[in-house]
Amino acid sequence: MVRLRFAPSPTGYLHIGGLRTALFSYLYAKQQNGSFVFRLEDTDQQRLVEGSEQDLLKMLKWAGLEIDEGPGIGGDYGPYRQSERLETYQKYAQQLLDSGHAYYCFCTPEELEVMKREQQAQGLPTRYDGRHRNLPLEEVKQRLGSGESYVIRMKIPEANENIVMHDEIRGTVTIESEQLEDQVIVKADGFPTYHLASVVDDHLMQITHVVRGEEWLPSLPKHILLYRYFNWEPPHFLHLPLILNPDLSKLSKRQGDVAVEDYQAKGYLPMALVNFIALLGWSSGDDQELFSREELIEKFSFDRVNKAGAVFDQDKLNWMNQQHILSLSPDGLYAWLKPFIMTTPFGTQEENLLKRVCAILQPRLVTLKDVTEKLALFFEEEPTLKDQKLIEVLQKETSRTVLEAFRKEIQAVEEMNGDTFKSLMKTIQKSTKIRGKDLWMPMRYALTLEEHGPDLPLVAEIFGKKKCLQMVEQALNI
Ligand code: GLU
Repeated sequence: MVRLRFAPSPTGYLHIGGLRTALFSYLYAKQQNGSFVFRLEDTDQQRLVEGSEQDLLKMLKWAGLEIDEGPGIGGDYGPYRQSERLETYQKYAQQLLDSGHAYYCFCTPEELEVMKREQQAQGLPTRYDGRHRNLPLEEVKQRLGSGESYVIRMKIPEANENIVMHDEIRGTVTIESEQLEDQVIVKADGFPTYHLASVVDDHLMQITHVVRGEEWLPSLPKHILLYRYFNWEPPHFLHLPLILNPDLSKLSKRQGDVAVEDYQAKGYLPMALVNFIALLGWSSGDDQELFSREELIEKFSFDRVNKAGAVFDQDKLNWMNQQHILSLSPDGLYAWLKPFIMTTPFGTQEENLLKRVCAILQPRLVTLKDVTEKLALFFEEEPTLKDQKLIEVLQKETSRTVLEAFRKEIQAVEEMNGDTFKSLMKTIQKSTKIRGKDLWMPMRYALTLEEHGPDLPLVAEIFGKKKCLQMVEQALNI
């Protein structure tokens, strides 16, 4: 059975890239009837951000990525917070010390700084030079005994060798071991570094596929060595391509939002964002772009994940959001819009009326939040026209003729609804001989105050006779 994990560090919000890593792992786990595990990598005590764990979990939940095992959920391989597994890492660090694959290093930060500067001065790559690698055992004992501060480092093989790594997206990657340094695996505070903790946990939690961003690829040779030292079978590795800004630089805050919560706040449907993110680096192989969750689970495959960076195209996300909004049922739409409606003064309006208005607005929403600007037309006492371009159209003679005819003919209408509105428009067309744009545009501008407002008969029906008349009067008075 496959087991995949999402292993974020609680250093802040859920990043778009993190959501993609989680999504690909989730999709594959679900497709294969496996497990999707959440593991909190909180061993870097300096970088912890309060509330981060809850935020990460909240956003995954919002995105609909249900977790099978994790903190607060349970599972057979817990605890799922690394800070609660320190004894385990100590045990495995000791095992590496005992087998001669790791050693104590007593270098002080100052000493390391001097080493780095000297290397820089000589134009050498800056890395730990291994000076405590072969300290005499007696000295090590004595320094440990006197309570000197230390870290534990893993040993890179003595003789240079090619370390061969298999990445299922990139194929085989090789690196010479002499390019690597003796990586710290236990820090001075006794906490393991990411490298030791993630290898130990991936093994103990029986993770079959490690999916993560390309930025972790340079860590892979160290992990491969750790698997070898422990005599463990490594899992499958899949390093996902970078997500890029439109200018092909790495996706950054400066060029747009990178936190999933920002997309929630801006009114993106989770399913639209998930759909969009699924296509950042993956494609189904045909032209299909819109997917439901079930379709993604069915069609996803790592074989179709690219090596090349994936550009984050905001316009495409907007289009997708629109499409997903369009596919909602009236009740579904209203449920998603409600939190946004509640931020406006119109949240207290009668629910059935709000629902009808939402249904009319549905084709005009790019984001859910757009609803907040569009409600005023229906619920404000006197919505007013401010757009100069539209005002000019309304001042044209043909427009005035149409509006005057409307004002006159509406008297005969008993109850305004979609049908009575349409027949009213026919009557006006006959009496004024004005048709097409010249007939419809003034009505559209007068009633919706917008160039591309919602469907007119529907608007007229919601307005009723009185408000239709009020809007037309307003247009005639400008
Ligand atoms: N804790 C790492 C992160 O924050 C996880 C990397 C991995 O998946 O191995 O992204």
